[in-house]
Amino acid sequence: MRSTKFYLIAVFCLLLWSCQQEKTQQNSVNEKQEIKTKTSKKYAIALHGGAGAMDKNLMPDSLQQAYQEKLEEAVEAGYQVLKNEGSAVEAVQKAINILEDSPLFNAGKGAVLNHQEKPELDASIMEGKTLNAGAVAGVSRIKNPIDLAISVMENSKHVMLSGAGAEQFAEEQNFEKVEEDYFITPERLKAVRAAKKNEKGKTAYYDKNLNADKMGTVGAVALDQEGNLAAGTSTGGLNNKRFGRIGDSPIIGAGNYANNKTCAVSGTGEGEYYIRGNVAYDLSALMEYSGLSVKEAAQKIIHEKQPKLGGSGGLIAMDKEGNISMEFNTFGMFRAYKNESGEMQVKIFEE
Ligand code: ASP
Repeated sequence: MRSTKFYLIAVFCLLLWSCQQEKTQQNSVNEKQEIKTKTSKKYAIALHGGAGAMDKNLMPDSLQQAYQEKLEEAVEAGYQVLKNEGSAVEAVQKAINILEDSPLFNAGKGAVLNHQEKPELDASIMEGKTLNAGAVAGVSRIKNPIDLAISVMENSKHVMLSGAGAEQFAEEQNFEKVEEDYFITPERLKAVRAAKKNEKGKTAYYDKNLNADKMGTVGAVALDQEGNLAAGTSTGGLNNKRFGRIGDSPIIGAGNYANNKTCAVSGTGEGEYYIRGNVAYDLSALMEYSGLSVKEAAQKIIHEKQPKLGGSGGLIAMDKEGNISMEFNTFGMFRAYKNESGEMQVKIFEE
């Protein structure tokens, strides 16, 4: 009798133990599956800080390092937004804000100046899922023009607002205004004065030297964990540009474009050529209608189509799988990317 009791208790314990074991194994399978689905979600951010005639031998090491650090800070900040399941638009905004606030780049503080030695800033944003877009052109009192472009997209029925109208909209949206002087740096004043001196006696509107300076427009493209793409671009335009000149950066389809079906694109270079070439949309169209990969389409535009038009510059593009292309036909382009596996690259010159 005693031994039967003992036997029953032993069987019960064994059963309990094997149930426990099964549960633990199931939990670990579930955990593994969760990690797998989490890590299999692709997300990435890429950015540029302008393309141009930067020379490795002429750029002091300390300046190269300053650019590298700022690009790294911006790409990391955008990446963290994506990692924490933020949207592609939020990641683009975060990265661009950092570059706009740095006087190193031709956007926000440190933007190049027009012929009157005044800042006139352009910016745009586009969302690949909805094809919603927002842009501002010729603003001079908004600290972060990309924020205003996003506000135009989200809080107005329009796509683009310019000059005084854009500034009035900013007031209605409670944007804090800064004085024009906030944007002006001694380096940019020197550059515009040098360009003005150079063009003396030439037909102002056709001066080839208009685009001789290194550029520094900023842009970002991102893919978030929901699989949505976004593209944003922000710039001061071209050094010594004429009053009222608007470049490609705020023009959807020229300097900026995003479509979940194809890719997100941000361009940098001589805006007049990017407008004529409808560059950002053209890249998307090459993917959509000709079946080119993002890399093939970007190479075709930057190395075949743009040079035929006469323009120089570069672009960054990302497809819906997070594949990135960073092409330029200049000596360099400030650029960086980081993806979900933590792979990061920051570069300035041609390799
Ligand atoms: N694309 C800009 C513009 O023409 C300039 C630049 O990218 O540097 O306004």
